[in-house]
Amino acid sequence: MSNLGQIFGSNVFNDAVMRERLPKATYKALKKTIEEGRPLDPAVADVVASAMKDWALELGATHFTHWFQPMTGITAEKHDAFISPTADGKAIMEFSGKELIKGEPDASSFPSGGLRATFEARGYTAWDCTSPAFLKDDSLCIPTAFCSYTGEALDKKTPLLRSMEALSKQALRVLKALGNTTTNKVITTVGPEQEYFIIDKKLYDQRKDLIFTGRTLFGAKPPKGQELEDHYFGSIKERISAYMKELDEELWKLGISAKTKHNEVAPAQHELAPIFSTTNIATDHNQLTMDTMKKVALRHDLVCLLHEKPFAGINGSGKHNNWSMGTDDGMNLLEPGHTPHENEQFLVFLSSVIKAVDEYADLLRVSAANPGNDHRLGANEAPPAIISIFLGEQLQDILEQIENGGATRSKTGGHMEIGVTTLPSLPKDATDRNRTSPFAFTGNKFEFRMCPSSASIAGPNFVLNTIVAEVLSEVADRLEKAKDVNSEVKAILAEYVTKHKRVVFNGNGYSDEWVAEAEKRGLPNIKTTVESIKALISEKNIAVMEKHGVLSKVELESRYEISLENYIKTINIEALTMIEIAKRQILPAVIKFATNLAASINTIKATGLAVDLTVQTELLTEVSSLAAALKKNIAVLEDAVEKASNAHGDTYKQAELFRFDVFEKMGTLRDVADTLETLVDKDVWPMPTYGDLLFNI
Ligand code: ADP
Ligand code: MG
Repeated sequence: MSNLGQIFGSNVFNDAVMRERLPKATYKALKKTIEEGRPLDPAVADVVASAMKDWALELGATHFTHWFQPMTGITAEKHDAFISPTADGKAIMEFSGKELIKGEPDASSFPSGGLRATFEARGYTAWDCTSPAFLKDDSLCIPTAFCSYTGEALDKKTPLLRSMEALSKQALRVLKALGNTTTNKVITTVGPEQEYFIIDKKLYDQRKDLIFTGRTLFGAKPPKGQELEDHYFGSIKERISAYMKELDEELWKLGISAKTKHNEVAPAQHELAPIFSTTNIATDHNQLTMDTMKKVALRHDLVCLLHEKPFAGINGSGKHNNWSMGTDDGMNLLEPGHTPHENEQFLVFLSSVIKAVDEYADLLRVSAANPGNDHRLGANEAPPAIISIFLGEQLQDILEQIENGGATRSKTGGHMEIGVTTLPSLPKDATDRNRTSPFAFTGNKFEFRMCPSSASIAGPNFVLNTIVAEVLSEVADRLEKAKDVNSEVKAILAEYVTKHKRVVFNGNGYSDEWVAEAEKRGLPNIKTTVESIKALISEKNIAVMEKHGVLSKVELESRYEISLENYIKTINIEALTMIEIAKRQILPAVIKFATNLAASINTIKATGLAVDLTVQTELLTEVSSLAAALKKNIAVLEDAVEKASNAHGDTYKQAELFRFDVFEKMGTLRDVADTLETLVDKDVWPMPTYGDLLFNI
């Protein structure tokens, strides 16, 4: 590997490159747009485009593409060569400001949730200059937002950018009201920890379920799972290590600060975390990270699985979304300092987050919902489906003091004595960690731990930004009007803490007692994706999204439709894949096995010897009756799929059919097949088993 300092960001049109290649005035104008949100001058775009093109051509690029994030949840790109033919039969390389700023992909095939009929195919991409352009393969990629002819957002980036502006605006009002005169902008920061599985490509290729759905739809529990906890933070195998090394290098070239890598809890599971950055860039980078993870794996004859639950019976994958608010003059608004009880500003922001999470728990829940995550949330490996906040001992204590009339002291951690004189005495954090909380305060940020591993983090973040902006706007309204800001702050803190402490829970989120306790407290427990989607169109949620200009009612209705359709399609594909595998692979294998058994019984009988044949006959009887059950359950599932597929009209009702009928029946079919797997000769079983997939590298 070459020098890390040299390769980091080498494929990015970043600040250093811009400073070097742009005329001073252009650079300054562009920076004003990036940093202060000033509108972009079209003349500037021409100059930037030309510099970008020269830079990209020097690095071997031939094409450019507007890179965007439609509602499929993955990224989209359409490549155009830089060439422009000349009269003498040659070509010159061109790239104008117009091409940089605006693109017009024929967008008819992207999900729009009814926002746009297919005959009205126009969609536009608009340059997001706050996220740097980069080079991928032979193309200059320009991060863009994607919207319809009428200006409605058709992507993940647009609401995210809108929400960042909303939060900045409201947070600034609060800061000003508290007497801050130096801050000009508040930025939300995010560091997403990405979990993933790596398996051997040869085995992957033999599993239709992995190929079509990203998860195993069949598979008996292997003798060994994760019970020994020997994989977590374990020493990394050479083949995986070589993969991780190349992955890191590819990410560094893209300016992605891949920082931490380790083995995760489940066998074959790993994690990568970057250093946090601005939400917008973190979101783009996370999309690129997922893309690169998959691509680099193939180079090593490996496959990277990003599905939330590729394997039953062992942990699935999530994405911890570490989130905070920072200022342009370097403050972290969620930094409590050594004496948080005196840190009024911190307490205002903290209690605003608490109120926002309590009042809009349903929006946060839907932001972390997808079909894959339904296998995790509430399943004792991921946080429960109930949204609650972990604050830890120190802050909990301060909240109690606030409730009882005012905070006067902060508990400290002190020192930890390990009991060996040669080991250093370690300063102890004021608070322990909590693994079971969906929304945990971790020192100077919140960690939203519910997010699905395969999904964009745009959704969770625009929801967080918007709901916090809403509460901050209420705080600002009160502080701006207050005669005495200090006593108003005290009143706000006391009110927010008293009213919203129900969402704070520092105990074991995996326990049954918590489910009962949460119900008593009136906290929503939304168990499935389908049910969670309703939150997108509730009056209260439409109001908050519209008020802050993040999504309009029409846009939310379109997202409601898209989410339901996505659910329906996903389960439909899974069910059809199950049927195909069960019918054409498992059943024939079982019949073959049974036939072999029968033949063996006959052959032995033909010898005329008085041999005990009970093993063979019992096995044959058991396998044959399970085969009959398999056949029956295939038919039952086929019927359910047909019924659900034909239930047009109300998308919500159709999604319910897929969840509560089709999905349930898939489980029954799987149980029968998995039992058969434990009985049938491994040599005739038509696909690699869990043991093969998870312990082969
Ligand atoms: P852990 O696994 O202990 O939660 P990691 O180091 O794996 O911790 O991940 C923590 C993530 O939080 C990193 O991506 C880190 O950059 C990020 N982070 C740290 N400070 C902030 C902050 N102020 N805002 C957003 N993210 C942050
Ligand atoms: Mg974490």
